[in-house]
Amino acid sequence: MTMTKDNIKQLQDIVGTDNIKNDIADLYVYGSDSSVHKALASVVVRPTTTEQVQAILRYANAELIPVIARGSGSGMSGQAVPIDGGIVMDLKKMNRILEIRPEDVLCKVEPGVVDDDLNRALKPHGLFYPPAPASSRVATIGGEIANNASGIRSVKYGATRDSVLGMKVVLANGDLVNLGSNTRVEASGYQLDRLMVGSEGTLGIIVEATLLLKPIPKFRCIGRASFNKLKDAGESISEIIAGGAQPSMLELMDNIAITAVNTTLKMGLPDVEAIIMFEADGKVKEAVDAEMKLMKEICEKHNAFGIELSYDLKERTKLFAGRKKLFAALSRYKEGLSCTSLADDMAVPYSKMAECASKIHEIAKRNNVVMTAYGHCGSGCMHTKILMDPTKKEQWESAKRAVEEVYEYVRSVGGTTSAEHGIGLSKAPAWKKEKVDSLALLKAVKKAFDPNNILNPHKMQDAPDDWVSATELRYPVE
Ligand SMILES: Cc1cc2nc3c(=O)[nH]c(=O)nc-3n(C[C@H](O)[C@H](O)[C@H](O)COP(=O)(O)OP(=O)(O)OC[C@H]3O[C@@H](n4cnc5c(N)ncnc54)[C@H](O)[C@@H]3O)c2cc1C
Repeated sequence: MTMTKDNIKQLQDIVGTDNIKNDIADLYVYGSDSSVHKALASVVVRPTTTEQVQAILRYANAELIPVIARGSGSGMSGQAVPIDGGIVMDLKKMNRILEIRPEDVLCKVEPGVVDDDLNRALKPHGLFYPPAPASSRVATIGGEIANNASGIRSVKYGATRDSVLGMKVVLANGDLVNLGSNTRVEASGYQLDRLMVGSEGTLGIIVEATLLLKPIPKFRCIGRASFNKLKDAGESISEIIAGGAQPSMLELMDNIAITAVNTTLKMGLPDVEAIIMFEADGKVKEAVDAEMKLMKEICEKHNAFGIELSYDLKERTKLFAGRKKLFAALSRYKEGLSCTSLADDMAVPYSKMAECASKIHEIAKRNNVVMTAYGHCGSGCMHTKILMDPTKKEQWESAKRAVEEVYEYVRSVGGTTSAEHGIGLSKAPAWKKEKVDSLALLKAVKKAFDPNNILNPHKMQDAPDDWVSATELRYPVE
C-alpha cells in the first residue's frame, strides 16, 4: 500500500519528522525480520510516548491502515513482516526502565527495553528476568511478550508468560487499557494480560509491562555428557525430567550440530552422536550438588561417558560455548547451505524426545535436505534448522515436504508447532491444522479486539496456507 503525502504529514504531526522513515532503504530493511519472508513497509514510525502510540492507532483505525508493531525484528517466523505494507511501528525508542521494586520482586518497563539491558540493570539488586531467549542481546521485552519467548532456563523458570504480571496496552481504536495486576496470583476472570502474551501484535500494542523477577542464584553448576547413541541422550532427558530432578538448563546437540561448531569454530567437542548439557542452580550448594549428582547418574544409566562438571564461571562458559554459538555455526556447516528457520522449534511430550530427534534425521534424509536436532529439550522444545541452498527452487519444494512431515509427526504425538519462535507466517499452515477445533474462536477474539483488522493483519490464524508461494522470500530463487 502506498502512503499519500497527507498520510505522512498526519503521522509527522504525531511523532515529529525525526521519527518518521520513508526512504526506500529503510522501507526495505523494515520489510523483513529474521525469517525467510520479506515485504516492503509503507512508512516507519518511531513513537516515544504512549500518547503518540494512541494517536497513531486512532488515525490508522480511522483510515484503515495496517499497523505492524516491531521490536528488534529478531522474530524467526515473519511475525513483524508487513505483508500488506502499512505503518511499521518501531517501539525501540520507548526503552525506559520505569521502576525496579526489589521488595516486590517486580519491575515496570517500556516495551523497547532490550532483555540484556534489563538484566544488567537488575543485577545490582540481585535479581534477574528469567525468559533468556538466545537472542537476549537484541530482543525487546515487547517482542518477547508478544511472542511468549522462552529459552535455556525455561525448564526451571517457565516461558515469558510465567514472568508477566500485567501490562498497559493500546487497543486498535487508540484506547489505553490496564491488564493484570502487580500480584503473583489472580483468581478467575478472563486473563486478558495472558491473552496478550503470544498475540504477536495482532490484538494491541504493549506500551508498558510489569514483570516478575527472580533472585540471582548463588551457585550454578554445569555438566556436559557425551553419548554414542542419540536415543540414549533423548532418553536421559526424558528421565531427568520425569525422575524429579530440577535442572535450570537441559540442552541437546546432535552430531550435525556438533560438527557445525567443531568445523567452523574449532570447538573440539567430542565427535559423538549427541551431547547433553545440564545445569542446576540455587542458594544452597548442597542442594545444587544433589541435583547435579542425580542428573549425572541418570545420564550414566543411559551410557553417557566423559561427563564433566563445573561451578567455575570460566569452565562453565567453555562447556556451554558450543551450544551458545551453534546458530551462527550452522549457517557455515557446508559451502552453499544456509540455515533457514522453517520447522524450527516444535515441542513434543518428554517421552518422545529421543524419537523426535531421530524422526528429524529420517525426514531430512528422505527429502534430501540437511536437518539438525538440538535445543532446549528440558522444556520439551526440539529445535531443528533446515540447511539448504535457498536459491534453488527444488530445495524449497523439498524443504516444504520435510516441514510438512515434521509437523505431521509432531501433531501425531500431541506436540505443538512452535515452542518459542512464534507462528507469524512460516508456522501458520501447520499451526492452523493443530488448532483446527479452535480456529473460529481465535478469529472471533481477533475481531473483538480489532474489528477493522488493522493490527498485524494476515498473521497466525489469518495467514496464507502456503508460505512458499503466498509471500515473497528473502532469497533470489532460481
Ligand atoms: C539468533 C536468534 C536466536 C533466537 N533465540 C530464541 C530463543 O531462544 N527463544 C525465543 O523465544 N526466541 C528466539 N528467537 C526469536 C526472537 O528473538 C524472539 O521471538 C524475540 O522475542 C523477538 O523479539 P523482537 O524484539 O525482535 O520482536 P520482533 O521480531 O520485532 O517482533 C515479534 C512480534 O512481536 C510483535 N511486537 C513487538 N513489539 C510489540 C509490542 N510492543 N506490542 C505488541 N506487539 C509487539 C511484533 O508485531 C511481532 O509480531 C531467536 C532469534 C534469533 C535471530
